[in-house]
Order: sequence, then C-alpha cells, then structure tokens
Amino acid sequence: MTLDRRAFLASSAAAAALAAAGRAGNAIPGRGPGSPRTAGGGYAPWLELYPEALRENARAVARLAAGRPVLAVVKNNGYGMGVGRVGRVLEDAPEVNGLAVVTPAEAHALRDAGVTKPILFMGLATVGDSIELARRGVRLAPFTDDAPGLLRDVSAAVGRPVPVHLYLDTGMGRLGMPVHRAIAWVAAIADGGHARVEGSFTALVEDDDFDRDQLARLRAFAGEAAARRLPLGRLHAASTHALFFRGGDALLDGVRPGLALYGAYPAGPDARARAELRPAFALRARVVRVERLRPGDGVSYGRNWVATRPTWVAALPVGHADGYPRRAIDGAEVLIGERTYPVIGAVSASHSIVELGEARGDAPVAIGDVATLVGPEHPAVHPNAVAERAGVSVYDILMHLSPLLPASG
Ligand SMILES: *Cc1c(COP(=O)(O)O)cnc(C)c1O
Repeated sequence: MTLDRRAFLASSAAAAALAAAGRAGNAIPGRGPGSPRTAGGGYAPWLELYPEALRENARAVARLAAGRPVLAVVKNNGYGMGVGRVGRVLEDAPEVNGLAVVTPAEAHALRDAGVTKPILFMGLATVGDSIELARRGVRLAPFTDDAPGLLRDVSAAVGRPVPVHLYLDTGMGRLGMPVHRAIAWVAAIADGGHARVEGSFTALVEDDDFDRDQLARLRAFAGEAAARRLPLGRLHAASTHALFFRGGDALLDGVRPGLALYGAYPAGPDARARAELRPAFALRARVVRVERLRPGDGVSYGRNWVATRPTWVAALPVGHADGYPRRAIDGAEVLIGERTYPVIGAVSASHSIVELGEARGDAPVAIGDVATLVGPEHPAVHPNAVAERAGVSVYDILMHLSPLLPASG
C-alpha cells in the first residue's frame, strides 16, 4: 500500500504536534500550578487559569477581611481571565459570598455559566436591562435621581421588590449619589416599597488621607440614615487597596476586592508581607523563530534595537493585541525553559522578540519551546514584576489580556 501525499502530510503534522507537545511538557517540569498546555493548539498564544490559586487567594482575602463577607469583583471579563471561568471557580469558594460586575453582559455571562450566588451590577442600566437583570436575581446599584421611579417600574415588571445596593459617592466623583444630597433620595426609594436595600457602598480614591475622609462621610451618612430609620443594609467600601493598606475601619460589613483574587499585589509598601497571593493565570506562547544575528542586524519596527555582537534572538507570536504591553521593551523578560530573556526591539501587534544571548554555541531554545510572558513560575514574570519592569499598572497586565486568547484550566 502506498502512502498518498495527503495521508503523509496528515501523519507528519500529527507527529510534529506530538513532538511539540512533548517538548512543552518537558520545558518546565513540575513547575507552577499546572504544566503548560496549549489551549488553542499549534503556535497560537494561550492563557492558563489556575483555579486552585484563585481559591487560595480567596482564602487570603477572607483572612485580611477578618472573616467578613467577600464580594468578589469579576468585572472586565474576570480581570482578563474570562468572567464565566472565574465565576464558576468562585461559585464553589466558600469565602466568596457574591460577585460584582460592571456590565449587564457580564452578569448574564455569570448566570449562563451556572453561577447562583448573588451578583451585584455596579453601573447604570436601562429600564429594560434592569428588568432582565432583576429577573435573574442580579442586584442593581441605583445612583441616579430617577432611581425611585425606575425601581418602581422594575418591581412592577418582576412582581416583587428589587434587591439593591445603593451606590453612594463620598468623594470619588465617578458614580454614586453624592452623600450630601442622598437622604431624601434614600427616603424616596424606601417609601415606595419597590426595593429591598441589602447594602450600600462607596468607592474610595485610594489616597490614604482622603480615604479616611470618605469613610468618615460614609459613617456620618449612615448615622443620619439610622436616625431617620432609613435602611442602608450592609455597608462596603474596601477594594484590594483598602483591604491591604487600611484594614480596620475600611472593612465595614464586607469587602469588595478584585485584583488580589487574581494573585496580583496592590501598589504600596510591604504589600507582600500582608498576604501571600499566587498568580492565578499564565500567558504563554511557543517560539516560532530562532535566528543568529550578526553585528549590525536590527530587530522589528523602527530598528529600535541593533545587534552589536553575534547573538541569538527568538520570535514569539504574541504581542500587544493579545494584551502584552508595548512597553515590555523597557525591561520585561520572558521565561523560556529555566531562564529569562529580555524583550527587545518593539512589541508589535502579534509578535515579540527576545534576545537569547551571545552566539558562541548552539541556540539555547528551539522552535516550539514554551515561553511564559506572565505567570507564577518565576519572579521575573510575576504580573507585578512585568508591570514594574514595563512601567505600567498591574491592572493593565490583567485587564488588557485579549478575550480572544484561547484558555485552559
Ligand atoms: C474595580 C472595582 C473594585 C475592585 O477593585 P480592585 O482594586 O481590583 O480590588 C471594587 N469596587 C468598585 C466599584 C470597582 O469598580
């Protein structure tokens, strides 16, 4: 029997894929929370999610909150990790009492993923969207002047009082009903009987002195509301920053962290001493080109980088369109095998280049080797380290991850 050309190509492609998978498995043996896998297959970059790290971080957050209820923020596509994927993990985490999002679509994605815990939608929704959200048990966060009327309409449509957390502005100046004129507004909401006020919350600006003022304003407002027998429910204010750096008076009746759950630390002194977190994800890609440069050979757009000695470089098929920061060339490194290599030249939409080092012998990496751009295995690729080296916010490292990246875990 002769092997026809198509069968030959199919079998050699399968063999190559198996060989590549074998190399990947050997690249970082037994390191980190999971061994590298390709989610999309082939050479496309991918994201790995580590559910156990998410659960551990939830426990660390609950300890910082001294056992208070944790409302886990999973906005912006679960901080880049996939709102449904993160939601399913946190659904089973006993430390997490509910989840918070900033778009109706994220709330629906959580319910579609099977999340039954309370969900808080922290934004403005149209009447139609509010009705759909209330039907699925999503808590609304009213803050506009017309909220009493809107809640009446939503309540009439769903046939019961609408559970809400009142969004109060204590000085952030973003969303929320300003507390200095909120008493009459709360009274109007309470009078109608169309809402069930489960909680009230505010966002802190994350400036130590002003946060203190904001919390004092919230307490004063709560005192005034109590004197008038107006219900505010459970008060919450602390995101990751206040949870780490204020504690005490900021913890109120519950906390509302995002960042820490994903294993990244807030910017500030001694954050690592306060809690041990583990990055809950990795961004990986496979090497697609290894080349020896001669002195004078340049790399990427703008010829930003020119070799001054014979050196090896490797190209990775992952770039800023995937969420890897353009500014990675300012000092970020990529882990391949056991070593880290600097990003050079330019990060383009779909490619990055690393220098492997002076070319004396063979190249230290091969096409198909797994490269970790962000991940838990090495301090240089920890999300906080990549952010610091690239001079960007750690939020950018997580939230700019492309939702199109295939994911595993
Ligand atoms: C994003 C957000 C949070 C969570 O912030 P982290 O810094 O990620 O912990 C909490 N509350 C509100 C209103 C938010 O928008």
